[in-house]
Amino acid sequence: MAETVRPSIGCKGCANSATTLQCPTCLKLSIKDSYFCSQDCFKQNWPHQLQNDHKAIHKSAQEATESTGGVYNPFPAFPYTGSVRPVYPLSARRTVPKSIRQPDYADTGVPTSERMLNRAKVDILDSAAQQAMRKVCKLSREVLDIVAAEVRPGVTTDYLDEVCHKACLERNSYPSPLNYRNFPKSLCTSPNEIVCHGIPDQRVLLDGDILNLDISIYHEGYHADLNETYYVGNKAKADPDNVRLIETTRECLDAAIKIVKPGTPIREFGEVIEKMANERGCSVVSTWGGHGINTNFHPPPWIPHYAKNKAVGVCKAGMAFTIEPILALGKPRELYWPDKWTNATVDGKRTAQFEHTLLVTNDGVEVLTARNDNSPGGPIPMPTGATATR
Ligand SMILES: [Zn+2]
Ligand SMILES: [Zn+2]
Repeated sequence: MAETVRPSIGCKGCANSATTLQCPTCLKLSIKDSYFCSQDCFKQNWPHQLQNDHKAIHKSAQEATESTGGVYNPFPAFPYTGSVRPVYPLSARRTVPKSIRQPDYADTGVPTSERMLNRAKVDILDSAAQQAMRKVCKLSREVLDIVAAEVRPGVTTDYLDEVCHKACLERNSYPSPLNYRNFPKSLCTSPNEIVCHGIPDQRVLLDGDILNLDISIYHEGYHADLNETYYVGNKAKADPDNVRLIETTRECLDAAIKIVKPGTPIREFGEVIEKMANERGCSVVSTWGGHGINTNFHPPPWIPHYAKNKAVGVCKAGMAFTIEPILALGKPRELYWPDKWTNATVDGKRTAQFEHTLLVTNDGVEVLTARNDNSPGGPIPMPTGATATR
């Protein structure tokens, strides 16, 4: 018996695989991936709300092609909490030459080796592995600095993704986020109320925005991971709340790094971070944590950034991990966009994040992704008249 040839794509309305029947209006407006197994399925199995959403997509795409030069909001009915919107279409998937070593998920989207790890066992890196981590982390700092130098009002986050992708390839490196659990782009760009994992798209940066760039790269079998939040334009630097948020987050990370040495309990970092955050009127997002990092992107341990956490284990020489606190001006809770990656604060207030990859040494810590003297960004003083406390 022969198997029939089916398209690999699933029906948007039910569990069947889709036929090649595409929503005719979507087809006309060149909205991709809008397949259903039948017209009836669209009408019967799709809740009314989703049908209306679907019609709204038509409307939004139509308006876009007429008035905005081809860009549109793919989820027009979503209850956005702040002012940031997704601006589609996403650019085509960027490619990586086969000559560059790729992680196991590059083709499949599934980080197989990471999934098989014993979550209770933390790797201790030998000196060759430590040397490999120093190398990839140095390269990742170069990439972040190259991308950060392009941050200014008027550029799109997709342009920053292009710059990041190119800088990775030039360093014989794979951009770790690309296709990690099907993430579509080569870095995460999270402006304003976006907590993390924002997808680079056609949104133009505005004077007054703040923007987190989260860079991860894979070089000769090892990952590096770092991020910083930047002020976009002078308007952003003139807002005392922005400055309080960003500079407090930067200092929280620095304060946590200061206590890294053999014997420090992993749970201590959250104590240091949340205490400082609260003193400056900021809250700590508890959903996202730091993580081990080596030949895998996110191996154990998981590192909470909030106080009174129950993380087990202590720092040992040879461990590599990240600390990457996210602080919020308002409620530290998040809401996912329908793209399943972007998460925004529930109250639309802003967040900031900073991240370093660290190596525990015999008597302290090496900040493998440390800034250079000429790195863009960096701390700024509070504007006069602003207060650092609530
Ligand atoms: Zn990161
Ligand atoms: Zn990370």
